[in-house]
Amino acid sequence: MRMEIHEQACRGCRMCVEICPTKVLTFDEEACLAKVGKVEDCIACLSCTYLCPSGAIHQEDYPRVKNFYRDLEFCGRMEKFL
Ligand code: SF4
Ligand code: SF4
Repeated sequence: MRMEIHEQACRGCRMCVEICPTKVLTFDEEACLAKVGKVEDCIACLSCTYLCPSGAIHQEDYPRVKNFYRDLEFCGRMEKFL
């Protein structure tokens, strides 16, 4: 699969980095941008893409058989935004 984070769209909120269950995404502190790390560890749960408030994360050629991943503790913290 291929994954891209559009730098001009990323607003540095870190939500994608925090939600990723397999730690695929990293955060560049200097640039204040999320980056794709080990894309081979991605399980294609699409949580990062779903949560990104800027629609900055784009994936292609991902397997469509995996379940959506929800971290309940993280979702609890998100309630204030809903
Ligand atoms: S969730 Fe989107 S806007 Fe937030 S850090 Fe990740 S890519 Fe950037
Ligand atoms: S799709 Fe899921 S496993 Fe892949 S980078 Fe996003 S949150 Fe992580």
